[in-house]
This record gives sequence, C-alpha cells and structure tokens, in this order.
Amino acid sequence: MYINGEQVDCETKETIEVVNPATNKVIATVPKGGKIEAKKAVDAAHAAFKEWSSKTANERGQLLMKWFQLIDENKEELGRLMTVEQGKPLAEAIGEINYANSFISWYAEEGKRIYGETIPASHPNKRILVHKQPVGVIAAITPWNFPAAMITRKVGPALAAGCTAVVKPASQTPLTAIKLAELAGEAGIPKGVINVVTGNARAIGDSWLEDSRVRKITFTGSTEIGKVLMKGAADTVKKISLELGGHAPFIVMDDADLEKAVQGVIGSKFRNAGQTCICTNRIYVHESIVDAFNEKFQQAVSSLKVGNGLDEGVDIGPLIDEAALLKVTEHIKDAVSKGATILQGGSRIQGSEGYYFEPTVLANVSDDMVCMAEETFGPLAPVTTFKTEEEVIARANNSQYGLAAYVFTENIGKAIRISEQLEYGIVGLNDGLPSVAQAPFGGFKESGLGREGGHYGIDEYIEVKYISIAF
Ligand code: ADP
Repeated sequence: MYINGEQVDCETKETIEVVNPATNKVIATVPKGGKIEAKKAVDAAHAAFKEWSSKTANERGQLLMKWFQLIDENKEELGRLMTVEQGKPLAEAIGEINYANSFISWYAEEGKRIYGETIPASHPNKRILVHKQPVGVIAAITPWNFPAAMITRKVGPALAAGCTAVVKPASQTPLTAIKLAELAGEAGIPKGVINVVTGNARAIGDSWLEDSRVRKITFTGSTEIGKVLMKGAADTVKKISLELGGHAPFIVMDDADLEKAVQGVIGSKFRNAGQTCICTNRIYVHESIVDAFNEKFQQAVSSLKVGNGLDEGVDIGPLIDEAALLKVTEHIKDAVSKGATILQGGSRIQGSEGYYFEPTVLANVSDDMVCMAEETFGPLAPVTTFKTEEEVIARANNSQYGLAAYVFTENIGKAIRISEQLEYGIVGLNDGLPSVAQAPFGGFKESGLGREGGHYGIDEYIEVKYISIAF
C-alpha cells in the first residue's frame, strides 16, 4: 500500500494474491488492509489537506504536470504491469496509460480555471461574492477494468481542485495503482496527498463512509455496490459520484455506412474483451440490411486474435477471472436455448490456464434473452433486428441503465432525432469510441450520478461558498 508517502504493510500481515488472468499464476501479493489502514490513510490525507489546498492552482498544476511526465516516461513499464494483472493487450494497456494521463494534464490546466463569481447585490452597501473551495478529503473506489484511468479520472480533478485523496483500487489490479501513487511521490506531490489502500473492500469502504473527514465518495463499479455506497454516504451527508453499470444499445439504421458501423461495433464491443461499462451490449440492425451487416461483422470478428496480451498481434486478452467466463457461457446458453444462432465463436478457448473466450456473434436474438438486459461484461455480441425508428428507440430505452448508446446513420435528421431521444448520458453518433478527458462521462438512471471529465468533472470536487459583504 502507499500511505503518507511510503510503501506500508498492514498490521495483520495478511495478503491478497494478484493473479495474471492470462496464465492463472500468482504474480504478486499486496497487503490485505482493513479499517486500521483505511483510517491511517484518511489521517494522512486530512493532515496534508491544509498545505495542498493552500497552494496556488498554478503550483498544483506544475506538480501534476511532473507526475504526467513521469507517467509518460514509464508508460511501457506501467503498460506491462497492467497487462499482467488485468489481461488487456499491451498496446491497449499503453493506450490506457496515455488516456489515464490525459486526465492529469487536462486537469493540471483546468485547476487554474475554477472561477468564482460576483453577483449584483440588493443593497448599495453590500457585495455578493461566490467563492469556490475544494471539498476536502475524497475517497475513490475503483474497478479492475481500467486500473489506471479510473484512478486518474477521479484523482486528477480532485488534486487540481485542492483536495487530497484516499484510493482503494480493485483487488484484482492493485499494482498499477500503487505504481501511479509512487510516481506521484517522485514527482514531488507531497506525502499524504494521494494514498492507496489495498485489501478488504467492505472494511475499507465502511471505514471511509463512517469517517466524517471524508467529504466525498467517488466510485466506479457495479450498480449493486454503488447503491450500497450511496446509502452509506447518507449518514455523514457526503457528496457522491457514481459511475455504474451500463447496457449499451448499438443501433444501425438502414442508411448506415456498413463499413463504419462494423468498425464501430468492433471497437466498442471487443475493447478490453468486452469488459467496459460503455461496451456495446445489444446490437439493433434494421431488418433490410441485417444479412449484409452480419456477413461483414462475422468476417471481421473471425479475424480477431485472442491470446496473452504480452504476445505480438493479440487483439483480445483473457477475461479477468473464472466467474467472468461463466457469465459469458451462461448468457450464450440462455440465448441459444431461446432460439439464437451462433454466427461466430461461442466457446471458452481450451488448452490454456488463462481465462480466454472466443469473440462471439449471436444472430436471431430476441429481447427476452438475458444478454439483452444484463451486462455480459465479455466478448459477446448479440444482433437483433428492428423495423421502425420509434420501435428501436423504445427498445433501446427499455433498460434501467443509461450510460452509453451508439447510433450509426448517414441521415442528419435521424441522427439528431435518435440522439436526442436516447435516455443515455453518452451517445456515440457514428462513433464507437467516445471517451476523452475533456468531455463529460456519466450515466442516466441507474448508471450513475455526476460526470467525470471536462469542466463538469472538476465541479464534483468543489464546494460553492457565498460570501455576503456589508460595509
Ligand atoms: P466489479 O463487478 O467490477 O468487481 P464491484 O462494484 O464489485 O464491481 O467493485 C468495484 C470496486 O468496489 C472494487 O474496488 C471493489 O473492491 C469495491 N467494493 C466491492 N464491495 C465493496 C463495498 N461493500 N464497499 C466498498 N467498496 C466495495
């Protein structure tokens, strides 16, 4: 763990094993921290807050840019660390490091633009000043699918705003998180400003929820745990941002450019082996073009290479664990039992210790199949058809989730109409890869609260103070 600028162990000396999903071998152990370590981290972050928040935005920005430079210089090593603990192909892992780092550089600048306001007063001898201040200590709880980016997307704006942070990375991927925190220390970010606690999620989470010094919880993960944290945050009325599950529809209209649509769905569906919250989950293709779409899609998917992410030319790595493989298998079994046909893939890849699954395309899919409502979080692409615009919008919106949706059409009217009616926080219009540091990322409905990225993302770490001046 990394607390108060030092690598520390936990009191009980218990550990958690980190497993490489490509080989099923233990590659490291990290301390199994709990309440004691969680509290120590908040002690450190709380003590560091005064000095860190007193620095100018420019000073904080300069330190963040040093951190950015060190991450950039170490991106090969960070990428390898990520591939061996998470599984994604090395090029994709280095891509994630670049993406993660873009939040640091972007917020290093944005911190300088946390502008206040003056408002015309109601009395000649009064003035109204609106001032912005950091919320204080923030707690970030992050998932395993983006071991670097989910941390920097939270910690980047938090630090830029003057907050200090305690972070609990997912137990499957703590190594990238610890390395990032060490690089922050090397960059000169003072001790206590970023702390990483590994271990028992429940104990650490509960400790931070109960601690009134923690003023904000920011979480990316399952809707189930998001709800637990939202309830828990009520006792001390903490601010909360949640980036939860999704079930993204991908709509291909009859006038779509099929090449673009197939490329878009490949990127959106199979990135990170289908393990992202904005990955396509349901593909709706207009019935008049479904045969042509399926042929191109099946061909493109059949050429994707699955393997160890460290090997040359691999497009898709292993899934994170056995449970992930089982979920994909069950979703396929359910769909086939209800009439779906397998166009491509469909099975676990045998003969390896790793958690490999073939990228899979299902046709003749109907809305009663489990994969059309529950997040598969794996390389499964179910294709269904539709007849009219109204029908596809209604079916796309028929979900408790509302994170990302995709629409492919060459018709500007349809593009605008459909984008506006989709009940989703992010719409990729002829674009399968919408995430960037400067844009707001977040969901409607049970996909979350708040936004990360862009100027919206820094507001999550700011309190607004109204100063009424009489003279
Ligand atoms: P996933 O299915 O992606 O693992 P989770 O929501 O279970 O999603 O995990 C996301 C993060 O939340 C991880 O860091 C995990 O350790 C943490 N977590 C899980 N349970 C709790 C809990 N009860 N309190 C706080 N954090 C938790």
